[in-house]
Amino acid sequence: MHQSMVRKELYEDDYLFNEQEFKEFSIVRSDPYWKIRGTAYALSLNIFGTKEQITKRIQNLLFQNYLHKKPESKSLQEVRETDIEIIVRNLKCSSNQYDNITNKDLVIGDINIEEKIFQHQYPWQVVPELARINKKAIYPDVFKGMALMMRSCMVFYDHFKDDEALTAIVAIPYTPQVLEILNPAQIVALCRALNMRTQYEGIKNFVDVAKQKLLDIYYSVDDINRLHGITPCQSIRECSKIASMYCANSCCKLCCQELQNKNPCIIHDTFDQFLRYKMKQLYNFEERLDFEKNKTLRIYFRKSPRKHDVEQTFQHENVNWGEMKLYYHYCAQKIQYVYLVFNSAEHAQRVYAERHVYELKLEKYDCQIQALSSSLWKKVEKYSDPDAVIAIIKPLSTLDLVTDLPTGQEYISLIHQLIQTITQLPLGDYQIEEDINPISETKDHQHIFVILPNKEYVDRVYNAQPFMGCLIAHKISHIQLLPFKRYQHNICLMCTSKREHNCLHDLCKNCCSRQQYGMLRCPCSYSAISEIEAKKEELYQKDKTIIKENICDKCLSAKDAECSNGLCLQCCRVQAVKTNCPLHDISNYSRKILSSKKDNPLQFSRKMLTFVSEAQIQVRNAMVNGDYDWFRPIYNTHVMQGMIKANRDLQEVKDSGSIIRGLNTNKNKKDGKIFTYQANEPVEIWVNPDLKVAEDINKKGLPYVEYAYTPESCNTKSSTYIKNGINKYRTYSAEEYQQHMTSPSLASFMSFGYHLLFIGLDRKNFSVKDLIQEIQQKLSMQVGKITDQSILVIDNETILTDVFTQSIFITSKNLDQNMIDIGRVACIRFENIYDALAVLCKENIKISLPLANNQNGEPIIYPSAGMIKFLSEFNFNNFVYDQNQQQLVSNAGVAFKTKNKEIQDLNNQIQNLIKYTQQASNKQQKGNKRFNNKKGGGPQPGKKFKKN
Ligand SMILES: [Zn+2]
Ligand SMILES: [Zn+2]
Ligand SMILES: [Zn+2]
Ligand SMILES: [Zn+2]
Ligand SMILES: [Zn+2]
Ligand SMILES: [Zn+2]
Repeated sequence: MHQSMVRKELYEDDYLFNEQEFKEFSIVRSDPYWKIRGTAYALSLNIFGTKEQITKRIQNLLFQNYLHKKPESKSLQEVRETDIEIIVRNLKCSSNQYDNITNKDLVIGDINIEEKIFQHQYPWQVVPELARINKKAIYPDVFKGMALMMRSCMVFYDHFKDDEALTAIVAIPYTPQVLEILNPAQIVALCRALNMRTQYEGIKNFVDVAKQKLLDIYYSVDDINRLHGITPCQSIRECSKIASMYCANSCCKLCCQELQNKNPCIIHDTFDQFLRYKMKQLYNFEERLDFEKNKTLRIYFRKSPRKHDVEQTFQHENVNWGEMKLYYHYCAQKIQYVYLVFNSAEHAQRVYAERHVYELKLEKYDCQIQALSSSLWKKVEKYSDPDAVIAIIKPLSTLDLVTDLPTGQEYISLIHQLIQTITQLPLGDYQIEEDINPISETKDHQHIFVILPNKEYVDRVYNAQPFMGCLIAHKISHIQLLPFKRYQHNICLMCTSKREHNCLHDLCKNCCSRQQYGMLRCPCSYSAISEIEAKKEELYQKDKTIIKENICDKCLSAKDAECSNGLCLQCCRVQAVKTNCPLHDISNYSRKILSSKKDNPLQFSRKMLTFVSEAQIQVRNAMVNGDYDWFRPIYNTHVMQGMIKANRDLQEVKDSGSIIRGLNTNKNKKDGKIFTYQANEPVEIWVNPDLKVAEDINKKGLPYVEYAYTPESCNTKSSTYIKNGINKYRTYSAEEYQQHMTSPSLASFMSFGYHLLFIGLDRKNFSVKDLIQEIQQKLSMQVGKITDQSILVIDNETILTDVFTQSIFITSKNLDQNMIDIGRVACIRFENIYDALAVLCKENIKISLPLANNQNGEPIIYPSAGMIKFLSEFNFNNFVYDQNQQQLVSNAGVAFKTKNKEIQDLNNQIQNLIKYTQQASNKQQKGNKRFNNKKGGGPQPGKKFKKN
C-alpha cells in the first residue's frame, strides 16, 4: 500500500474514493487491514472473516447505531501488536463455521522425519535489509509464519517507492478464497507447518483463530510498505504462473484480462472498465430488488452515512422505512447508496423536486438525491432491430470528467457531434432518443439511445468508447448488461475464441448456443442449437435408460447436480447471466486442492509450502527478462528502465570471499548477504516419508528445486550426490556432481598427482569456491602459476560423497570428527614442482589464508606422498642440468625471480662465450685456408662481454 499516495485528509474523513482515485492511487482499494481489525476490536465486533466481511460489519454497526463512535486511528495503534488469542478471549467471538469441531476431528498426522528446514522467527532474519521496516505492523506470530514464505533472493529494487528501497516478495500459497475450501484439519496443519502456535489455552474455536492467522498474514503483507505478495494464479483454467497481490482477481495478467465474470483490476484493467463495472453492479442490484421506480429515490453518499441522520431528514416525508435498502461499494464494502421507498409516487416526486433542500440538510455526508433510471433490459423488446441500437450512459460518479459534462440541450448536441464524428453519417441518417425520468416524467439524459442504420455502425461507435473520457456505450443486444470490454475487438465476450461475425450478442458460435438467457434468437447459433436438440432426441431414443433431467440443458454432457445454474461445467462458465456457482466458479488451483483429498493434512500443507520454492525460480527468471507482471505494470512508466536494469544486475549472485572476509557487518549488508551463496541456505521440506523437496542455488547462481521420490534416493548414504547438510555452505546439484566426478583434475588428484597439502583452513565463512579462489589468488601472486583446476578442497561434505568411499577413508573411524577439528584441507598441484619446493622451504614466501580458527594466517603445509618421493629420490651427485631441468627452472614462479635472473644472466654469458670461441676458432680455420684474403672484419673480441 502506498502511503505517500493516500490523500490523508480524505482518508481520515472517511471519504470513499471514486473510480479515478482507485485507479490513480492504484493500490488503495480500501482501508489498511490493521485499521479495520483495530476498529472491529474497538467496537467489540467479531474479528473473524475476510477484510470485506469485517468492513461490512463495521459499516452496518455504525449505520444502525448513532451512538457508536468510530475510533480514531491513533487509538488503534496498540491493537496492531495484540495477539489474536488475547482479542478472541476478550471478545468471545466466533464465525459459527467451526463450532462443533473438536480435537478428535483434527487428525493432522505426523511425518516423523528429522528435517533441516530453516527456522527463522522473523522476516528480517531472512532478508536482513528488512530489519528497518515497521515491526509494529502486526502481532509476532504472523511474522513468524511470514518468514517461511520468503527467501533472501526474492527481493527487488522497487523504484516506485519514495526512497529507492529493496522490497521483499512474500510467496503466499493461498488466497482468502482458497482458505474457504480448506477443511479444518488442513487449516490447522497449515498453521503448524508455518511454525505458528496452534494450541490455544481456553479458546474453544481454535480453527477460527488458525484461519484468521492465515488471513492476517495475507493482509499484513499488503499493509507493510516493504513487502509485496504473490500468489499462484487463481484462473479457472490451467495456469501455473504467479499472480500479483494487487490483482483484484489474484490472476496473472493474461488470465485476468480473459475473464468476463470478475472484478475490475487496478493493475490489469483500464479505468473505463471500472465505470462499466460500477454501473453494472448498481443496475443489477436495482433489478434484483425490483424497486418501484416511480416511488423510489436513490441517495448517493460520499461519506458513510448514519441511519439516524437519514431518518431525521426524511421523517415527515412518508418514507416506508421497512423498505429502505443499502448498497455497499463493490470493492471497499462501504455504504455508498441508500434507497428510500416512499408510500406514494407523489411523495417521491415532492422530495425529488426539492432535493437540494434535503441535500443541504445532509450536507456533512456530501450526498446527492437521484431518481432511478429506466431498465436497459426491457429496451430490447422496444426496438425492431435491437442490434442497430446503442445506449450511451452517463456514469454515476463524482469524477470531474462527469460533473463537468454539459447538461440539457447542450448535452444532446454533444452526442450528435460525437455520433457524426465517429460514423460520418449526416443528421437524419440516425436517430437519438432521450430517456424518461420515472419520477419527474421529464426528459432524462442518464441514458441516450442512438438508432443507427445497421450493426456495423453500432460496432464502430462501441469500439470508440469511452467518450469524453467517461461516457460508456452499451449494445442493447448484449445479453449481459455492460460486460467488460474486450481488449481486442474481435474476441468473444465470454471466452477467448474469435467471435462470430453475425452474432447479435458478440459471442462465438459455441458460447452463443449455450446461453440460457437472452431474448433474441441469434442467427449464428440457430443451426447449432437445433443440431444439439436433434442429437439429444436421438440419444434418448437409442438409450431409454437415460434420465432427461441428468443431461445438461444446453449440451449433451451430463449436468452437475450441485451447479447453481443447473448446467455442466462448460455451459456454466460461459453464461453471460448467471448466479454465482460455488462448484464451477472456483479456480483451477482450488480444484486441485479439492482433488488431493488422499493426502493427510500435514503432508498437504507441506506440499502447499513448496510453492515458495517454485515461485522463487519464476520470480528470478521474470526479473532477468524484465517482466514485472507479478508486480504491477511498469511499461511506459518513468521507472521502467531503472527497474529493469537494477533488478537484472541484482540477479547476479555474488561469489566473492571479499564480501564476507573477516567483517561481520559486511556480511549482513545487502550486497554481502542477500545475493551471495552464503545467504542462500538450502531448504528441504519433507512432504511425506517418500517425497523430499530440496531447494538451493547452483554454482551459476540460479535457484533450483529437486524432488526426491523414494526413501532410497532421499537417504544421504546411498545418494549419488550430497544434499544439504547442517554444516554445509555449498551444495552440489546432480549436474554439478556429474561435472565434478568426470573432471580430469579429480582423476589425477586421486592418483596423488598433487604436491602439497594445506591443512586447517576455514570451514564456516567461505564456500569451497571462495576458498579455492582465495588460495589461487595468493599463490599466483607470491609463488607461481596455478589454475583453480589444480586445487581440491576436502571437507566433511566431500568425504561423505562416494568420491571418497575408498577403503582408506572408510576404515578411518574418526575421520569426520578429525575433519571438524582440523578444518578443511586443500590439495594443491603446481605447474612447476620447483614452486612447490619454494612453498615448502618458505623461501621469501608468506601465505596468509582464512583458517579454521576464524583468523587469517599460515596454514600447516605438508608435502604429499608423491612430493616426498620426489625429494627423497633427488640426488645432487647425479643431477644433470638437461633441457628438461632448464625448462623447469626458467618457468618457475615469483619466488625464483631473482635466482632465475642470475641464472639467466650467467646462462647468457656462457652461451655468448661458447658462441664467440666457436666463431673465433672457425675464423682461424678459415683464415688458414684463405690467408690474407681479406683484412679486418669479423667480430671484435671482448665487445659483448663489456656490454654485459
Ligand atoms: Zn488483475
Ligand atoms: Zn494465469
Ligand atoms: Zn465464446
Ligand atoms: Zn450468436
Ligand atoms: Zn452443458
Ligand atoms: Zn455451475
